[in-house]
Amino acid sequence: MKIEVLGVRFDDLSPEEMVRTAASLIEAGGFHYAVTPNPEFLLTAQKNEAFRTVLNQADLSMPDGIGVVYASKILGRSLKGRVPGIDFAESLVAWMARTGKRLYLLGSKPGVAEAAAETLKGRYPGLIVCGTHDGYFQEDAPVVEAIRAARADVVLVGLGAPKQELWMARHGPETGAKFMVGLGGALDVFAGHVERAPEAWQRAGMEWCYRLIKDPKRINRMAKLPLVLVQAAGARVRGK
Ligand code: UDP
Repeated sequence: MKIEVLGVRFDDLSPEEMVRTAASLIEAGGFHYAVTPNPEFLLTAQKNEAFRTVLNQADLSMPDGIGVVYASKILGRSLKGRVPGIDFAESLVAWMARTGKRLYLLGSKPGVAEAAAETLKGRYPGLIVCGTHDGYFQEDAPVVEAIRAARADVVLVGLGAPKQELWMARHGPETGAKFMVGLGGALDVFAGHVERAPEAWQRAGMEWCYRLIKDPKRINRMAKLPLVLVQAAGARVRGK
């Protein structure tokens, strides 16, 4: 079942159900993609119709930020909980290692995807990483061809939003890959270049706060987040 939060649709699934659904989409063949909207996505989608359409046509949409879950509660159609894209990606990669699927990493600065590949291969023995590419390319065609030549089953895409979502929807089918997911800066985390909040902070729904303390420049991005809650309250009052 999909739940709409301020114009963007989400799958109301647990983290385990998200991974199981992705695995069956991969096994089914054809091209599918997943998105991981946080409150910032919701605000961008209000102004960018192409982005909103691509988000709403995704095969799987997971609430990446606690702000999305709070907004859904305010709207009176509560999502089960947060499903961080990075946790989803890691569980999917574990499944891929068990089932022999081929992983391609696309995004971030040169060298990051390679370092992320090393981390993941260390954590999940047997994992096949069939290729990597940085996210600062000028032409799409050579990247599409590289993914196709690598015979990737799954591509983790970290180009930042909305670029990564638009890229997956536009070019995904040409690559021959079966599944892509847009993950923002997750490759930087796998590469060990960016630190994630300790688990206690994550459990408390305070990962955003930890990131802010570590990187105060994010204040401009985060200052927009309460707006999502205000908008949700407004929509609730208007009975939408
Ligand atoms: N990025 C990229 N190509 C670009 C712009 C950004 O590969 O043209 C990468 C950037 O290096 C970083 C990620 O996209 O790894 C940032 O995405 P975002 O800010 O959405 O991530 P968040 O920090 O919110 O997870």
